[in-house]
Amino acid sequence: MTERGTSIDGYGPADIITTDVVVLGGGGSGTYGAIRLTDLGKSVIVVDHHDYLGGHTYTYTDPASGNNTEMGVVAWYDIPVVQNFFKRLGVKLQQTDIARAGTTTLTTIPVDFRTGKTLTSVYSGNVTQGLINYVEQISKYPYLEDSFDLPDTIPEDFLIPFGDFVKKYNIEGAVQILNIFGNGMGNFLDQSTLYVFKLVSLASIQALQENSYQATVSHNNRAPYEAAEKILGKKALLSTTILSVDRSSPLGVKVQVLTPTGKKLIIAKKLLSSIPPKLENLLGWDLDLNERVIFSEFLNAGYYSAIIKNTGIPDGIEVRNFGADTPYNVPFLPGPYFVQSTDTKGLFTVKYCTPAPIGDDNAKSAIIAAVQRLKTAGTLNTTTPEFVIFHSHSPFESTVSVEAIKSGFYKKLYALQGGKKTFWTGAAWHAQDSSKLWQFTEKLLPDIVKGL
Ligand SMILES: Cc1cc2nc3c(=O)[nH]c(=O)nc-3n(C[C@H](O)[C@H](O)[C@H](O)COP(=O)(O)OP(=O)(O)OC[C@H]3O[C@@H](n4cnc5c(N)ncnc54)[C@H](O)[C@@H]3O)c2cc1C
Repeated sequence: MTERGTSIDGYGPADIITTDVVVLGGGGSGTYGAIRLTDLGKSVIVVDHHDYLGGHTYTYTDPASGNNTEMGVVAWYDIPVVQNFFKRLGVKLQQTDIARAGTTTLTTIPVDFRTGKTLTSVYSGNVTQGLINYVEQISKYPYLEDSFDLPDTIPEDFLIPFGDFVKKYNIEGAVQILNIFGNGMGNFLDQSTLYVFKLVSLASIQALQENSYQATVSHNNRAPYEAAEKILGKKALLSTTILSVDRSSPLGVKVQVLTPTGKKLIIAKKLLSSIPPKLENLLGWDLDLNERVIFSEFLNAGYYSAIIKNTGIPDGIEVRNFGADTPYNVPFLPGPYFVQSTDTKGLFTVKYCTPAPIGDDNAKSAIIAAVQRLKTAGTLNTTTPEFVIFHSHSPFESTVSVEAIKSGFYKKLYALQGGKKTFWTGAAWHAQDSSKLWQFTEKLLPDIVKGL
């Protein structure tokens, strides 16, 4: 990238946008940051490559019935940061059953999706005792609830595969339920326990036990993001590609973008990025070697949501994946977690996970094949399903190797915070948990607004 490429003179005044903060990525964390900065009296521009704000929060509305199905975020915690944000956006919350987004009672058929065959029995242990034992262990590490600010000496238990941790602390009975909360993280029992603690946090278990999860009264979890789109108006640049990010100029952070109405140059005093920090997501950025080395450490799972029709599966059925020969019958991946009837006749929601991203076309083919195996096995008279809508949540669940954790990866990652006028938020920096990411982003705000 040449200086000429980002030269302010290369853009006419109509194509130059000056702002206090440019927020790159308008999902859960970015939208929160943009609204809060606006309310703190700072000017913001939010950039997202999708045509909507909200990232993983996506609600599908069936045009015929008007019924909504959540494809991503289902619920938030009943905590001040959530209540305040929704109040600000004018969206009402109510207590919800986290078990599923729909209201219809379902009949579950346990199936190993590798074969399509039903299981005659599924592992069942003492769930209550398993959860008590899990909570006892995770409670030893309250700092995990707030960030990845880990001690110099990493507790050995963080580094062992979760399957070993389960045996060590007699958590067997809770594995099935913990796995549901850990959906999207790839092979659950193989993950370092640190990452299970981060995704299946103490807060998430407590909200389950207290039955205090919150969702929108309107059964449309996109509502807060629709409200944010209205508040931000033209300050949200959607369907916009980031062409370059230059943080070296004394003018500020210079971001070239391609919007639906042409190329623009954004000049911001500071940058808040919520884009998953994978090198392929940061093309055109002036990353230095240190940033490149750090971000290249991240490994991710592939996670895909779809709504399918013409499945041949009767309404009211949930086909749930259990490994016939896996410990505690946890689902074998790659595979669907479930194919589940929605509140809309004939529509089924699918969640498909792979230990590493496989591309949208491959994921779609794998979903079709999984549904067809139900027929081959004689389980259900399935057909070739059609996709009503498909969403990739990949790259999901950013992790690093045990070696990297041990050698201070998260200290190096956090040392980037605030350098080069750049602040970082999003799941890789804390947890795949919107409520927690809003808390995390809130804590960055004093440093972001300082001097603006
Ligand atoms: C199926 C599913 C269910 C979930 N359920 C819940 C739940 O019930 N409760 C909960 O709290 N959390 C839930 N989560 C997790 C939650 O969605 C995430 O923790 C949260 O969305 C992460 O926020 P984020 O800002 O880091 O990422 P995102 O919300 O993904 O935001 C990142 C944004 O960056 C944009 N972006 C990415 N790359 C670029 C680029 N190169 N250029 C421009 N823009 C880019 C994306 O379009 C996106 O809008 C769920 C996740 C999934 C996938």
